[in-house]
Amino acid sequence: MNEQSLLNNLNDAQLQAVTYTSGSLLVLAGAGSGKTKVLTTRIAWLIKNAQIGVSEVLAVTFTNKAAKEMLHRIGSILHIDTKYMWVGTFHSIALRLLRLHYQEAGLPSGFQILDSQDQQSLIKRLIKHNNIDEDRYPAKEVQGFINYQKEQGIRASELSPDNLKNKILIDLYLLYEENCNRDGLVDFTELLLRSYELLSMNLPLLNRYRQQFKHILVDEFQDTNVLQYKWLHQLVGERTMIFAVGDDDQSIYSFRGAKVANMHAFLRDFQVTEPIRLEQNYRSTQVILDAANAVIDNNSERIGKKLWTENRHDEKIRLYEGYTEEDEAYYVIDEIRQLHNAGIELNEIAILYRSNAQSRVFEQHLYNRGIAYRVYGGLRFFDRQEIKRVLAYLRLIINPSDNEAFLRVVNFPARGIGPRTIEQLQETATQLKRSLFDTVDELTGKLKVSLSKFTDLIRLMQIESKVLNLAETISYVIETSGIREHYENDPKEGEERIENLNELISAVTGFQAEDTTNPLVEFLAHAVLESGDNQANSYDSAVQLMTVHAAKGLEFKVVFVVGLEDGLFPHENCLNNLKEVEEERRLMYVAITRAKEKLYLMRACSRLMWGKRLAAPISRFVNEIPAELIKNISGVSKIGYSELSGYYDPAESNYSGMRNSRAEFEHPETKTSRVSLKDSDVTLKIGDMIKHAKFGNGKILRLNADGKKMTAEIFFIGIGKKTLDLNIANIEKV
Ligand code: ATP
Ligand code: MG
Repeated sequence: MNEQSLLNNLNDAQLQAVTYTSGSLLVLAGAGSGKTKVLTTRIAWLIKNAQIGVSEVLAVTFTNKAAKEMLHRIGSILHIDTKYMWVGTFHSIALRLLRLHYQEAGLPSGFQILDSQDQQSLIKRLIKHNNIDEDRYPAKEVQGFINYQKEQGIRASELSPDNLKNKILIDLYLLYEENCNRDGLVDFTELLLRSYELLSMNLPLLNRYRQQFKHILVDEFQDTNVLQYKWLHQLVGERTMIFAVGDDDQSIYSFRGAKVANMHAFLRDFQVTEPIRLEQNYRSTQVILDAANAVIDNNSERIGKKLWTENRHDEKIRLYEGYTEEDEAYYVIDEIRQLHNAGIELNEIAILYRSNAQSRVFEQHLYNRGIAYRVYGGLRFFDRQEIKRVLAYLRLIINPSDNEAFLRVVNFPARGIGPRTIEQLQETATQLKRSLFDTVDELTGKLKVSLSKFTDLIRLMQIESKVLNLAETISYVIETSGIREHYENDPKEGEERIENLNELISAVTGFQAEDTTNPLVEFLAHAVLESGDNQANSYDSAVQLMTVHAAKGLEFKVVFVVGLEDGLFPHENCLNNLKEVEEERRLMYVAITRAKEKLYLMRACSRLMWGKRLAAPISRFVNEIPAELIKNISGVSKIGYSELSGYYDPAESNYSGMRNSRAEFEHPETKTSRVSLKDSDVTLKIGDMIKHAKFGNGKILRLNADGKKMTAEIFFIGIGKKTLDLNIANIEKV
């Protein structure tokens, strides 16, 4: 591709950003204005026209998916092998640095990455072993404390306590660090902190990288935290140019310490006088943009920018208000089927939600209807129980001191090692300051006999795996550990789990290690870092399910934003805090601006939460969108099962936007009952509204007479179904 065609369809501001070479630069622009396109094109242009070497560019993105897309695009523009380029997430690049310089970083060669779950269980054990009150210091909170400090670049030794609680947290942080160092474990934030320290302690090494990276490029700059900023800053040498793109309206990680203030610091630290602004949006229709602008307009403290587009195609945004989450999901899936029949590719369709747990209902309906789908984040393939167990064996093969892995599988499949034995082992290990694995050799008697069966097995695996390739090693482990046999004997879930194990073997077969000397180490790191976009459960074309956070930077022809209810989105934890509501609003802005052509806003009028059916008010963010941009399509419910039949009569309920959709429903049995309520005789029939002294307003779904006893099944708003004895129930007809 020649220079002309590379730059051909850029607008003036984009062109200026792509070809700017007189220093560092910040591009500040709204969603869909081509920031990522500019960044990618710039990399290609630098290599092609400014004669920059492929390894002289460092580019940081936020997700693996984004990094992959970027490499793919660069590869197809330049026709080069992008495998060795320094393009990736902060985590993956930090990991690469640590793998290359593990000795200088004070790590063992096969150091393991601790995912968030492992981190939490390690912390839990530390709390227990040190007799700290778990109620006052829940593992999750301690984990949050530790990660927060690390994200600020602060080690336990640098902290001084100002009260007792603080002291205990700091002590736990210290213990945690000691444990990780002893066992060669590195958590996510540690990757970054450790590589930062590695470079700041080792000036020759730092200078080497400063000279190597002539250009550093950062996407989604608004979401960098203190440590990430320090990390980047450190790598900028005298002749390095740093180029960042971002949008303050899309800052959605301040709960993890991300700082929009980094934008101001950037301008100051790298002597950027004026950020470049891009105002034309190439992604969405005007209607979608108008909605996004209207929502974000409610935030204070914005740097402020407007977006416009030439994409007319003014189809309104659709709003569907379902009865329940089932109804909501049913509608979405039905609509997807129709869109797909009309020629829209499945992977051009996304379902976006606020919290991972919301995916389940959609997954179920998609599955039932035989529509391919892919969930990003949530319970990822590599997080599934059976996969984690196999991975634990693999981790032990590389590093037997990995206590997390040891505990996960020492008694899986069951080999008669009880909790008491493990407790004793742990106590001895603490005394000896040795890993659990090494401690087994020091034991005597019965304890040793049962445990050394396990350590012998691992030793055998270590020897055998030396002559096997990666895929062979994994199937060998699945067989010899007894994992396959275990699941074969599980009639309930076994089949699916074995399918997943087989998927793992095929995932490994397709995995290409960069470093061929130890592909297993690399595969394990890949398994931890990979967030859902693994080959293992991928389909060619599948509906994309993810949280709004995970959708950052992506775009789809059709977007369903689901669960738009106050308490869900905005999340209920944020409702009392204006700043946090503003962060939720930015999240909504991100959600809306993912859509290219069609946007659906969805909500349920009642939702099952914590086992209770609760009435769900519509999200304030929907109300912030001007009515003329929205077409309410509620009331054409496609759901057809009688469960819903008596729930609400839209004519009587005060739920907005619901029209009668019960034409398809059947009532269970229609009966009337003559009963005495509060001393007066009344006739009750199915569908009647009643009022209960405790449960409030309800609707009769079913009546049953059994001899003298008369019962009614009543649906109460916010509570759900109850069966009450009409002779004693405190109800009246309304
Ligand atoms: P976000 O803030 O959501 O990350 P962004 O600013 O990074 O958005 P891009 O993803 O780079 O925006 O671009 C949005 C869409 O617009 C992409 O499909 C991109 O190919 C297209 N696009 C960008 N610039 C142009 C252009 N000059 N001509 C045609 N299409 C463009
Ligand atoms: Mg982008």
